[in-house]
Amino acid sequence: VKAPDAAEHTMDGNKETLGFQTEVRQLLDLMIHSLYSNKEIFLRELVSNASDAADKLRFEALQDDGLYEGDGELTIHVSFDETARTVTVRDNGIGMSRDEVIENIGTIAKSGTRGFFEALTGDQAKDAQLIGQFGVGFYSCFIVADEVTLRTRKAGLDHAEGVVWRSSGEGDYTVESAELPSRGTEVTLRLKEGEDEFLNAFSLRSVITRYSDHISFPIYLPEPPSDEDAGAEDGDEGTGVPEPVNRATALWTRSRSEVSEEEYEEFYKHVSHDFEGPLETIHSRVEGNLEYTALLFIPKRAPFDLWDRNTRRGVKLYVKRVFIMDDAEHLMPPYLRFVRGVIDSADLPLNVSREILQANKQVDAMRSGSVRRVLGALERMAKNEAENYATFWGEFGQVLKEGVIDDAANRDDIAKLLRFVSTTCDGDEPTVSLEDYIGRMKEGQEDIYYITADNLATARNSPHLEIFAAKGIEVLLLTDSVDEWVVTHLPDFSEKKLRSVAKGDVDLDPVADADAVENESEDGETVVPEAGEMQPLVDGITEALGERVKEVRVSKRLTTSPACLIAEEHEMGAHLERILKAAGQGVGMSKPILEINPGHPIVQRMKDTTDDGQFADWAHVLHDQAVLSEGGQLEDPATFVRRLNELFQSLT
Ligand code: ADP
Ligand code: MG
Repeated sequence: VKAPDAAEHTMDGNKETLGFQTEVRQLLDLMIHSLYSNKEIFLRELVSNASDAADKLRFEALQDDGLYEGDGELTIHVSFDETARTVTVRDNGIGMSRDEVIENIGTIAKSGTRGFFEALTGDQAKDAQLIGQFGVGFYSCFIVADEVTLRTRKAGLDHAEGVVWRSSGEGDYTVESAELPSRGTEVTLRLKEGEDEFLNAFSLRSVITRYSDHISFPIYLPEPPSDEDAGAEDGDEGTGVPEPVNRATALWTRSRSEVSEEEYEEFYKHVSHDFEGPLETIHSRVEGNLEYTALLFIPKRAPFDLWDRNTRRGVKLYVKRVFIMDDAEHLMPPYLRFVRGVIDSADLPLNVSREILQANKQVDAMRSGSVRRVLGALERMAKNEAENYATFWGEFGQVLKEGVIDDAANRDDIAKLLRFVSTTCDGDEPTVSLEDYIGRMKEGQEDIYYITADNLATARNSPHLEIFAAKGIEVLLLTDSVDEWVVTHLPDFSEKKLRSVAKGDVDLDPVADADAVENESEDGETVVPEAGEMQPLVDGITEALGERVKEVRVSKRLTTSPACLIAEEHEMGAHLERILKAAGQGVGMSKPILEINPGHPIVQRMKDTTDDGQFADWAHVLHDQAVLSEGGQLEDPATFVRRLNELFQSLT
């Protein structure tokens, strides 16, 4: 089998045979051979494309009325032919030129396909639902059809510039120029054996009303036979006077009480290409100086391209019900990029462009109003629907955290929505809010404490937590890389400072001890030498480590580990330095402070042997294990191992 990507083609007059792009072949193979549950979704996808095409024409026609070619009533027609065993979806929307057909229908230009194949679960029902989300809806025709013919002419082009595209979905397709008097696109599916259920006005109608009722253009279907002619020879088809089956009004213009859950859900699926309903629906109309309607949704699940900078679907902008653009990024800040829906402005000019949107007071006001509504909805969810909020946080929490960094005006409200794992959690689920934390603060505790690390195990076992555990003080465990930036932009919350356990001095003396015992050595006897007594040891280690540390001092935060590393309060800290270094931004590393635990047997042994030949080795091992225990990497691991082995040997 040859597998060139679309390159090979044969010409016969104006008819070309082209090979599908490899990804499209894989996709078609999947459609044809393994996605047969939920097969009626092909209708939803075709109607959705027809509706998009009508939206696009209406938008283009704002500039050039001639594109309507005298026919300004935009419609979608669904029909069937029992004898030919075909179902046809026809629109008089924007249509496609020959090049556009080849580009849009023969290839998948978007980065979507790889994501699609990666997201496949093997569960057919689920996989079939993914199709729409990945912008490959058209190909769902091949679930039920063994031949698909698409006839299209772009609005404004000559009748002779029509195009007929045809394929059986097996490797290649043909394109041919044709005389097409009517503008728009008509897709005809020749159904496979056994798919006759769609050759019937009742079932087409039930599928369309289920999935496509919210479409804002009229969808015409042949009228089903009345009871009298149900038995008539010519079957359903003969009675088929087309009649519109949907309300054909923009759903968001209706009042909330008039729209059912199901209608919201189907509309959400249409704008988001999601297969499940939304987690939350926010529908509001703003009147007064500025008039607009926002119908916004929070999805249940993150789209595959949440982290892709070029994600294309977000909030659609309409002006007075006319579709203007997809993904109007000025209407939603990046940290709310998971929000889907439409904003319909009554005030913006119809010829608004992306440039105009950028610096427009009305747009700014719509954005900030919409942001507040989304944050408000999340706050209510957090309060009243804990389970939903946990779902939300699991999917989008990391994205929302960017808001603390980007959106100073709403910082406090966003901070309330944050959820963390803390030392009080048994599991790994982030369930602790800053308000919860403050409610549990110990008497005498002034600040909110956190630790940053690569993962929860490193965080939980870090020596920096020892004194906090001993005192029973809760510590937030921050393990997302964005957390380092979150805490730098959130110096305090509710007048409590956020403080790293690995920075600066800790003074927990005002906090009463928990039942745990501090500084207990192996035999249960507490031995804490006087500070002055430790000075020769501190000096000895300082000298041995030289340039590796800024300072050596006696620790107040260790109970079981011999040593740990600390940064100054205002410095960035070892974890952030590691993140920056990994990102290729190795700014000049600041030197750490080594803190030693005066109660630890190793430290006590060193105190008595500062002039020992092995003292320097002990000092380096102490430093290096402190690096390792906080998840850091040694610059010279081999030397660490050699030193350790020599020390072991000297003990035997
Ligand atoms: P999506 O709709 O998510 O972009 P599809 O696979 O459904 O993905 O369609 C691919 C592309 O084909 C569309 O983006 C559009 O450019 C074009 N297309 C499909 N159907 C039509 C139509 N009825 N009229 C005009 N263009 C269409
Ligand atoms: Mg589509």
